[in-house]
Amino acid sequence: MKLILLGAPGAGKGTQAEFLSKELGIPTISTGNILREAIKNGTPTGLKAKSFMDQGQLVPDEVIIGIVEERVSRDDCRKGYILDGVPRTLHQARELNRFGVAIDQVVSIELDDAVIEARMTGRRVCSGCGESYHIKANPPKIDGICDDCGSPLIVRPDDNAETVRARLAVYHQMTEQLKGYYADLGKLKLVQGHQAIDAVHRDILAALGVSV
Ligand code: ADP
Ligand code: AMP
Repeated sequence: MKLILLGAPGAGKGTQAEFLSKELGIPTISTGNILREAIKNGTPTGLKAKSFMDQGQLVPDEVIIGIVEERVSRDDCRKGYILDGVPRTLHQARELNRFGVAIDQVVSIELDDAVIEARMTGRRVCSGCGESYHIKANPPKIDGICDDCGSPLIVRPDDNAETVRARLAVYHQMTEQLKGYYADLGKLKLVQGHQAIDAVHRDILAALGVSV
């Protein structure tokens, strides 16, 4: 299964991708996590991406396309994968077709901007594996420590109120139109993100027609 999780920044894509990845036995490809790792390691890609990310702007398409093309060619992607945070532009969506990514299903997690701004202030992410937590809605078992890999949790530098507003504006301007693109292809399902994490998860499984 090749699946795209669409939705505004903070809608819950990473949280839901984590469940689906375990249940479906396929990896999640999060371009945001890949870019943050590249910045941490000081790679040329990281250096190129950092200023865009700090300002809440999109990293240029050619950088993203290069990352995804390389990642989907790896062995662990043979059974499928979940794209989290990509595509974010029509050009990225069309480029996926060019290098042979045939998407089966697209789920958009729908959430109002006002709720997103509130959620982002409570987000904590793992500095090791990138897993997403929330101080109230999804706290780790041990305060400040990732359940999965034991690394410290941090606040993302782009989760401050001003940058979140910039990212939401970019979402509405550049990314939201992908819903129309995938709806026209008959692949889009909408799921309400205003619910508890497990209810969103249940609705995504129903939308995908998957029972686990
Ligand atoms: P995205 O990957 O779409 O940017 P995340 O999965 O990181 O979003 O979720 C953003 C924040 O909201 C995180 O702190 C996460 O724990 C929290 N969160 C995700 N889903 C829900 C939900 N259904 N209810 C409350 N908080 C949620
Ligand atoms: P995310 O972790 O998905 O919220 O992404 C964090 C930041 O990484 C975004 O605000 C962008 O600057 C950059 N980014 C991640 N994925 C993409 C993408 N597909 N296209 C462009 N920029 C991206």
